[in-house]
Amino acid sequence: MAARFDDAGPATGATWHARALAVMPDGIAGYSQLRKPAPLYLARAAGARVFDVEGRGYLDYMLGAGPLVLGHRHPAVVAAIEAALARAVPNVGVTTDQVELAELLCEHVPSLQQVRFLPTGTEAVQAAIRVARRATGRKLIAKFEGAYHGQSENVMVSVAAPAAVRGSDTAPNQVPYHCALPDEIRDLTLVLPFNDLATTAQLLERHAAEIAVVLVEPMLGFAGAIPATPEFLRGLRELTSRLGIVLVFDEVITGFRLATGGGQAHYGVTPDLCVLGKAIGGGMPLAAFGGRRDLMEWVATQRHPDDYVFQSGTFSAFPMSVAAGLACLRTLLAESTVEYTNEIGSRVREGLGRLFAERRIAAQVTGLGSLFHVHFTRAPVHSARAAEDADHALIAKLHERLLARGVYFYSGRLGFLSAAHTGDDIGYTLDAMAACVDRMLADGEFEHLRT
Ligand code: PMP
Repeated sequence: MAARFDDAGPATGATWHARALAVMPDGIAGYSQLRKPAPLYLARAAGARVFDVEGRGYLDYMLGAGPLVLGHRHPAVVAAIEAALARAVPNVGVTTDQVELAELLCEHVPSLQQVRFLPTGTEAVQAAIRVARRATGRKLIAKFEGAYHGQSENVMVSVAAPAAVRGSDTAPNQVPYHCALPDEIRDLTLVLPFNDLATTAQLLERHAAEIAVVLVEPMLGFAGAIPATPEFLRGLRELTSRLGIVLVFDEVITGFRLATGGGQAHYGVTPDLCVLGKAIGGGMPLAAFGGRRDLMEWVATQRHPDDYVFQSGTFSAFPMSVAAGLACLRTLLAESTVEYTNEIGSRVREGLGRLFAERRIAAQVTGLGSLFHVHFTRAPVHSARAAEDADHALIAKLHERLLARGVYFYSGRLGFLSAAHTGDDIGYTLDAMAACVDRMLADGEFEHLRT
């Protein structure tokens, strides 16, 4: 029987944490909840703020790990969820919202002629891989070092690039990411260097006859908001077309953030397939994959009655998720949210750049649109390796200190902005950052990064 703390006085984060640790590894459901010294126990959220069980408010730059582009509890999204709950139709029938959301995505995202909905980005990535393998008759997956494409074994390869095991710059090793991968699975996933077109071309050409798919994030997300260069994405498009490889953009983070049409619209490079998630569900679980009609038709029983590629799921196109996503995207379009969040994103990146330059601290501010990150390193950050070699403990410590000033970041990871963040919020956050950095400077924490 788990310990109970009913008589332990008011429910503080610490008492909840003791209970959580007894019944869940680390006391959490996923690493986004991990915090030192303990996770935050959140009681409610509104707009750009979250509030913990002890009533403290925090400006939120984590936004549920990215989905909440309108902020928490946007009235249009809440109303859509409530209406869907009142209807409570199961997703074994098609809802009209489902059709309308599919139409809206196809209208705004350049590569989409058809889409299918699934609950998570992980599943959508897997569906895209299955289609690509069937369409090409090839078996290898190629992905970039540093890219996170969800938690299926076949993409949990070289998500991070620790120096001791990553291999040379021109021949990256296939490194399992916090899991014991059978060699047979690992060997089916080729690892490529992000933003290095020459090496990527060599590796793709060498293995072309076996490669079904190249997966790429237009901006490496969890590796630290590292944008692709335009030449790199254009070159990748040209290469994959020439080699008959299906090019998949993983836009789980970048979709409806870099532009309404995602990274593909921002860069003007159209992949064969793309994966969307996070923002398209308005904060509810929803992802999608889609693209060229001839490829998507591999999942159609009408087109391939005997040899279609299976794609389904109990919670695919879950009605409350679809309703929330439709309301979210309609609001985002009507209110020009992407333009606004891109503008405050530029202000944040400029402000951070100034903050560290004024203090003569070597820091690389990265990101695009409404996404940003700080890498404490002297070298410019265009690759997963450069990001890996930055001082990770220092950014995690800065985020930890910011928590005490009421600013909530995904610990050590990129920041997300929403329509609910105001100019004053940004100003407060930059001031809080400056105060934290000054304390850390006084404590000598930046000595190795002085310029
Ligand atoms: N792709 C990318 C680029 C992601 O950032 C994520 C999750 N953060 C995923 C795929 C997996 O999505 P999910 O967590 O919904 O499975």
